[in-house]
Amino acid sequence: MEKQCEGVAVGIDLGTTYSCVAVWLEHHNRVEIIHNYQGNKTTPSYVAFTDKQRLIGDAAKNQAAINPTNTVFDAKRMIGRKYSDPYIQKDKLLWPFKVVPGADDQPTIVVQHKGQERRLCAEEVSAMILMKMRQIAEAYLESPVKNAVITVPAYFNDSQRKATRDAGTIAGLNVMRIINEPTAAAIAYGLDKRSNCVGERNIFVFDFGGGTFDVSLLTIKDKVFEIRATAGNTHLGGEDFDNRMLNYFMQEFNKKNNVDIGGNSRALRRLRNACERAKRVLSYNVDACIEIDSLFQGTDFCSSITRDRFEELNMDLFRECIDTISKCLTDANMDKNRVNDVVLVGGSSRIPKVQQLLQEFFNGKDLCRSINPDEAVAFGAAVQAALLSEGFKNVPKLVLHDVTPLSLGILIEGDVMSVVIPRNTTIPVKKEQEYCTSKDNQTVLKFEVFEGERAKATDNNLLGWFELSGIPEGPRGHRVMLTFDIDSNGILYVTAEDETTGNSNQITISNDTGRMSPKEVARLIQEARDYEAEDKMFLEKARAKRDLDDYVYKMEKALNVTKKNKGIITKAIVKAKSLLDGDVDQHEKDVFEKNLKELQNVFDPLMPRLEN
Ligand code: AMP
Repeated sequence: MEKQCEGVAVGIDLGTTYSCVAVWLEHHNRVEIIHNYQGNKTTPSYVAFTDKQRLIGDAAKNQAAINPTNTVFDAKRMIGRKYSDPYIQKDKLLWPFKVVPGADDQPTIVVQHKGQERRLCAEEVSAMILMKMRQIAEAYLESPVKNAVITVPAYFNDSQRKATRDAGTIAGLNVMRIINEPTAAAIAYGLDKRSNCVGERNIFVFDFGGGTFDVSLLTIKDKVFEIRATAGNTHLGGEDFDNRMLNYFMQEFNKKNNVDIGGNSRALRRLRNACERAKRVLSYNVDACIEIDSLFQGTDFCSSITRDRFEELNMDLFRECIDTISKCLTDANMDKNRVNDVVLVGGSSRIPKVQQLLQEFFNGKDLCRSINPDEAVAFGAAVQAALLSEGFKNVPKLVLHDVTPLSLGILIEGDVMSVVIPRNTTIPVKKEQEYCTSKDNQTVLKFEVFEGERAKATDNNLLGWFELSGIPEGPRGHRVMLTFDIDSNGILYVTAEDETTGNSNQITISNDTGRMSPKEVARLIQEARDYEAEDKMFLEKARAKRDLDDYVYKMEKALNVTKKNKGIITKAIVKAKSLLDGDVDQHEKDVFEKNLKELQNVFDPLMPRLEN
């Protein structure tokens, strides 16, 4: 495999609700899932803005209930989509933060930060989360991290992949590759459990996360991983179950108390958090309680839900998952009895009903629960990152054969999508197809390249277009050869050649082509750096203030026991306290530091005597 970079490379699972970062440790011959500052191996994909600072991860999620309108989550549900997308319109109703249409119909998140309005696109929010994951890895590795492999759901389209890559770039990362989440999970599984399997094994990866649902069928043979088919729904996950439960309890509370909490973001956030917790409990208990003090207008909320009721509320969604499995197997032309292992990935795969339906579908087959569903994706991404890096000799030499997630083709007469490479074709791949002029004396042919499954070309996603000119005049039906060539990085080259004249033209549609203009990306990179610097400054200032506070505390204690120098100490304490009583932002860091230095100069020599 071609090596792409030097230095540390990590794998990042950028999840809808939680993200996870991992690294290959060459000396230990294994992958390490890196814990964050709180000691957790997954970090909430949350970003919050307050009057004073920006918070990311646990700190953001923990304050969501008191600052709901400025706490942003679900960026992955927005990334690469238009504001007018029906999914965004539906989700918008449940988001406590404001989303408005921006330039080019981009969903734009509006928050208040330091008393000012800030507008953010989904890529920026994802970039902030990626930056946090980078910092977590840097703290653990004690070295800068520049390179990363980032995972996306297999069903993400080109626009969503490019937007994710843009987010990585904005976060200051060299995105070595975007890989599919189930592929990454299969690497983790294959490496842990089946790396030395004899013969061929068909592995079905069932990846059910917070906001996305993905299934993939892979074949592992002699350490070669080949994706045979993928299917999924980029808009189905644990949050949908939270939402159903939220609606259920909201109605109960409203009815009981004759109120409407629908418009109260804080109450909704608190109820949503409680619902998520109850949902987790229902994975091991047959019922779960909800207890929230003073939920709305001073009224407490106390209720419960049984596992049966929860399953009833979500049965249509569970069934949708099973239908998707059939689709994937049909695409791969494989009977379910030929599946050797069914691997569970993603937090929502812990739901007992989901497991039961899945097991029934596979005629009672035991499900593989041995790999941690929260960590498998980052694990696989870390292996892939090491494979793409210089200097790793011990990393297992795995070969991944990915597939095209969507069909690729061109628009022909009548706005028809003429598919050249069907969905789920293993890459790299090269396919040729002949096209003819449709009019007499036509000297130019225009090729518009689309991805998607709709019959009408313009209902699909336009990836780019180009023309072939200089076609000799003559009756219609002049043949031109069109070649679609996708390399192992997923870069598509489309070439049209007129064999009679030798004229040709080509377009490259690569993962590197930004969805945003380079100028826009550059602006956001700068903003991200500014933010990083601002956060660092805030933390340093807070630290300087805390140091001063600690010192004053020591002086106060000394004051209690000393009889000498009481006047000077009291005066100094009063001065320092007037600094400390203000807001962190009221003073610069060096004001605190200077004050501390002054105190230390005078009192450090006295302190031992005072303390004795
Ligand atoms: P992921 O995107 O893989 O991190 O999955 C996160 C989703 O899994 C969230 O919606 C969680 O609420 C959900 N989840 C985590 N643990 C459980 C559990 N024990 N039972 C049900 N859902 C869970």
